[in-house]
Amino acid sequence: MSILVSRPSKMPVDRNPTISINYNVTSFENEVLCMSIHELEEANRCLQCKKPLCREGCPIHTNIPEMIRLFKENDLLTAAQMLFDNNPLSVVCSLVCNHAAQCEGHCVRGIKGAPVHISAIENYISDSCFDRLKIQQAPSNGKKVAIIGAGPAGITIAIILAKRGYQITVFESRDKIGGIMRYGIPDFRLPRYILDRFEERMKAMGIKFRFNFTIGGNITLKDLFADGYQSVFIGTGAWRPKRMRIPGETFGNVHYAISYLNNPDAVDLGQSVAIFGSGNSAMDVARTAVRHGCKSVTVYVRRDHVSASQDEYEYSLLDGVKYEFNKTAVAIKDEGPMVADTKVEDGHVTVLEDTARLVPVDSVVIAVSQVPKRRLVEHNQGLELNDRGNLKILEYGETSLPGVFASGDVVTGAKTVVHAVEYSKKIADEMDLYMKNLDKKG
Ligand code: SF4
Repeated sequence: MSILVSRPSKMPVDRNPTISINYNVTSFENEVLCMSIHELEEANRCLQCKKPLCREGCPIHTNIPEMIRLFKENDLLTAAQMLFDNNPLSVVCSLVCNHAAQCEGHCVRGIKGAPVHISAIENYISDSCFDRLKIQQAPSNGKKVAIIGAGPAGITIAIILAKRGYQITVFESRDKIGGIMRYGIPDFRLPRYILDRFEERMKAMGIKFRFNFTIGGNITLKDLFADGYQSVFIGTGAWRPKRMRIPGETFGNVHYAISYLNNPDAVDLGQSVAIFGSGNSAMDVARTAVRHGCKSVTVYVRRDHVSASQDEYEYSLLDGVKYEFNKTAVAIKDEGPMVADTKVEDGHVTVLEDTARLVPVDSVVIAVSQVPKRRLVEHNQGLELNDRGNLKILEYGETSLPGVFASGDVVTGAKTVVHAVEYSKKIADEMDLYMKNLDKKG
């Protein structure tokens, strides 16, 4: 037995920062056991509840007690397989979910103390076993499916339908997979190697990728059906930043969160930045700005609390980000935003008159959410948007065009990875059913 003392090599720095001991037990038949003391201690705190509230709190109902039981029995691969089969993006969700509001926020251990650190255990299992997962695939049924967009929803549908024997082609406008996970979540929260591993595994499943290619340009949805695709999935996300609709948004010192996070290296925010918004994107911008050398980073929040997860808020405080509550911008000047006080009454925010004053900063970032771009709708007759600007779907994910399904942020507006996966699982079933019914109709 060799014992190595090390930090898990690929763990993000601000998650699971425990020193761990890796036991390399070569005499065991199936597994090289890599147990982290922290994760083991946490697993030992689990009460194996008969009615596990942690599972109820998980949007995708991960079987957490079973995961922990298998972990304690050193059967990591079985645990990882169970996690992947229920949630192909388990390893991502273990890092980016709002655990404090979901599984860990519901754990009974949390009533009188700290909840079991479920996310750390899930991450340990899913990360260490990812490359060894056995992804069972049915023989090819010869049916082609087009997936537009390689974000969380597209990846989920592609994996599920490829497992069922469909021939999948993914059309992605950028040169790598991940969508919002790669171009909207900073790599200190979600290391890019995780997404690269997904791409490798998906290619090994026979999934084809057409990168740097956008449907809605020279190729339309009609062309896909004409070439024999039986069904099309749209998971193009929400990439159009919402405006604050105040004067000055076009100035050179102003950026939108999604544009900044797309490539922070390309944007010089200067020494001081004012961020408007209170969701995870605002936190991501703030923490990224700190890491890119901004000396003064302040987030202005219209209400008296943030809407981001508590974890992300606390991490941002640790990073030195400052907050100003009940404040908003009413205009932006070349020298900085005009910031006014707000009042919340019956859930509505009103701006208090004569309170606006200039806050001199180098840059302003607007982080007040995103909606889908309209390119696909404008270039494909019959696709419709709802009154919130999201893609309109029927009850089972089918759009206003037969055989064209959608889920993820393009349908719901900007939401979380786990919600995109959870909903996409249902849509994959509906697409499967739709294509089987096509056979019956002959
Ligand atoms: Fe274990 Fe907490 Fe879930 Fe109970 S609620 S099974 S203690 S993780």
